[in-house]
Amino acid sequence: KCLVNQHKHTLNAFITPLPRTGKWREQVAEADQRRERGTTKSALDGRLIAVKDNICTRNLPTTCASGILDKFTSPFNATVVDQLEAAGAVIAGKTNLDEFGMGSHSAYSKFGAVKNVRQDREGQELSAGGSSGGSAVAVAAEQCYAALGTDTGGSVRLPAAYTGTVGFKPSYGLLSRWGVVAYANSLDTVGILGRTTSSVRDVFSTLNQHDPRDPTNVTSTSRSRILSHLQNPALASRLTRTALRIGVPLDYNISELTPSIRQAWHLSLAHLESQGHTIHPISLPATKHALSAYYVLAPAEASSNLAKYDGVRYGTRAEGPDSDGQPESYLYADTRGQGFGAEVQRRILLGTFSLSADAMDNYFIQAQRVRRLVQHDFNSVFAAAHPFASKCDMETTPSRTADVDVIVCPTAPSSPPRLSEILDGRSPLDAYVNDVFTVPASLAGLPAISVPVTVSASEKDLRSDNLAGIQIIGQYGDDELVMNVGEILE
Ligand code: GLN
Repeated sequence: KCLVNQHKHTLNAFITPLPRTGKWREQVAEADQRRERGTTKSALDGRLIAVKDNICTRNLPTTCASGILDKFTSPFNATVVDQLEAAGAVIAGKTNLDEFGMGSHSAYSKFGAVKNVRQDREGQELSAGGSSGGSAVAVAAEQCYAALGTDTGGSVRLPAAYTGTVGFKPSYGLLSRWGVVAYANSLDTVGILGRTTSSVRDVFSTLNQHDPRDPTNVTSTSRSRILSHLQNPALASRLTRTALRIGVPLDYNISELTPSIRQAWHLSLAHLESQGHTIHPISLPATKHALSAYYVLAPAEASSNLAKYDGVRYGTRAEGPDSDGQPESYLYADTRGQGFGAEVQRRILLGTFSLSADAMDNYFIQAQRVRRLVQHDFNSVFAAAHPFASKCDMETTPSRTADVDVIVCPTAPSSPPRLSEILDGRSPLDAYVNDVFTVPASLAGLPAISVPVTVSASEKDLRSDNLAGIQIIGQYGDDELVMNVGEILE
């Protein structure tokens, strides 16, 4: 059981912490009694699970770390919250994030930056990663058993890598997005953070069910199709097999890679080899364009999603000329100008531009093409075909270049930067670069996990350069296999 110490800390992991007294204590006590009687509801019964503040909860506000929703409480729970509560879990408060999930350091928040539990060698504060930095820090500081985040382009995996926790982004469409505030619908997934892969697995198995309220959620029929596809005799043995084929993308060995991260990558591969798995170099050539494509597509979808926050239907309304009888456009402009932070405004402008008639062909359409190439890259290296690939997809996929079961690479190119550097206003592009290794799996909708790997066993401290996040990516639907390999490395 975890200690709830959310009020004393200065990590700023929570926007809405649990009340000191309250119903949750009774819920935990009731779960304890069930455990004694042997009538536990599930592995999560009585466990504290923190929830990112862009996932709707009926009993606690949902702010998205934005001025525009700072007084908003949803009238309903997101499906994932209902599922957790039905399993006996206790919602351990709402965690801090980058506004609407847009950022890589959890510093673009109306409620101030999240601080990492780790410091650098000079004792300086570090970025917790983003945008689910609050969830990652709540887990790392043992303020909860596990936490929900959202991962659109790496927002669960990057904070996991920076805080030394495990962060899992399931295959797109497996976990319900109903009641999860949309950033970029075609990429958004609910992700899970825990101190171990086993705690992540507990949460995943509770949430991995069809939800008819989310139209992008995989139906029960398609779920059976994925299972029978991946459990056909040629592939099923991978789940128990001792010799897995591990793909190492040579394109990820970029010169900007921090030496300690390259070392952690080497150590992980050596460990896998020592366990009887085989290592195979692979090439994912579209990776170098994936980041640019992501930063066209995600803002384009965001610009459309955020149009509803106009001060009329949702959230905070700006006081202004409208009340003096001025045209309505002032109300919209003032509400949006005052409510949204600078990064969100930047994304809206970027997205609106790339969707405009003159720019559409050169940006949005090109980015969609790159997204296809990224998907093809993955399909050409995995031994398992994509379970939903149509005949037409099969014909257009370039010939297979490898037959690997999973891909292993770093989660981020560098260790967490100092928080002061980020708050001093580095260029937004510097933050975008951190997502270079996480966006490819997002563009292809694939399952990916980040697990902490210690570089030097003799230095068991949490200093920034002694720990790296290593990412395991699998074929669509191969979520169990990805977690299994995560467990080997952790
Ligand atoms: N850092 C990326 C972005 O800002 C990813 C965010 C996310 O996955 N929510 O868009």
